[in-house]
Amino acid sequence: MSHLNPGATIGVLGSGQLGRMMTQAATRLGYRVACFSPDTSPTPCAQVGASEVTGSYDDLDAVAAFAKSVDVVTFEFENVSAAAAETAAKYAPVRPSGDVLHTTQNRLREKSFLQKIGVPTTIFKAVECAADCADFSYPAILKTAGFGYDGKGQRKVASASEAQAAFTELGEPPCILEALVDFAYEASIVGARGIDGTFVAYPLVRNDHANHILDLTTAPLSTKTDTGEASALAEGIFEALGVVGVLCVELFVTTDGQLLVNELAPRPHNSGHWSIEGAATSQFEQQVRAVCGLPLGSTALQAPGVAMANLLGDLWPESGEPNWAAALGVPGVHLHLYGKTQARPGRKMGHLTALAPTPVAAADCVLNTRKLLAL
Ligand code: AMP
Repeated sequence: MSHLNPGATIGVLGSGQLGRMMTQAATRLGYRVACFSPDTSPTPCAQVGASEVTGSYDDLDAVAAFAKSVDVVTFEFENVSAAAAETAAKYAPVRPSGDVLHTTQNRLREKSFLQKIGVPTTIFKAVECAADCADFSYPAILKTAGFGYDGKGQRKVASASEAQAAFTELGEPPCILEALVDFAYEASIVGARGIDGTFVAYPLVRNDHANHILDLTTAPLSTKTDTGEASALAEGIFEALGVVGVLCVELFVTTDGQLLVNELAPRPHNSGHWSIEGAATSQFEQQVRAVCGLPLGSTALQAPGVAMANLLGDLWPESGEPNWAAALGVPGVHLHLYGKTQARPGRKMGHLTALAPTPVAAADCVLNTRKLLAL
């Protein structure tokens, strides 16, 4: 299998912040990037040098023309239809493949796949009609099977009758009912697999959410043993899925220390942003290396503790800007902004990263720096 040398063009489906950070990594290595999305310019990707094609993911002729114009296709947005991925695959390698997308973009298919390969998850059940809500372990969470993210399309329910009401309220789409996990904390592990099957993983990290949106990632989670167990779990998933590229395994760590997989994201992930400064090779460079068939890079931590705090649109005052100068005055803190012009509540606008002698010190540093933005 031959690799793609720098100078080749990487086509990205999607044009948001993940594509932007991937473009930054790719252009540093001498690759060209073209992004395809329905969004109009200047998208976060185009602002940092990607050429931009505006089109609908459902316009298969436009997807075909885009795939013909690039050397490899990857994505930063996983809700691209299977038909679009199949169309692109006629003209360029698609990494990871449309099959990976198909499995991971539907919660029911994803959890059934994990169950089939023996990966522990919470107890779950398909809900196709209200009667399916009977005979389940409550409290639970009812989630739409498709197209959900950041807590959208899900309801916490205490009983079968509440689940039935939530199912009606959601408009009765295919759903998955999941037993509520009493977790100690949430965690994730980002890994990458090359075209030759080589696998690498970053350390297991802790994720804290606010309003269902990732707020803080702290790396590493704790001991090497945790990472070893999570890495073995992730490797099994990558192999069974045949992933080429970066994928994030989102996990619950239960109060008795068990790892349960919640979700798979077949692309660089928000909980891996810390790797830009905090690891020898960032998750974005890793994606470039994997999809271009190059050797994967080292995932070694660059400090004993690294943390990342998200900057959501809520931080923006009604008029004016957050206090960037105050935050940039903190030594060792790195600011990333995604070039989005409209700051809406809940919208991911950027993030802060800090490296420190311990994970807790790194977390304190990004959280305290974020507070300065509001002063
Ligand atoms: P998801 O969209 O599946 O990533 O869920 C968003 C968030 O909801 C997760 O990060 C958890 O905080 C929470 N959550 C989702 N599923 C469960 C579950 N089965 N038990 C407990 N909390 C959950």
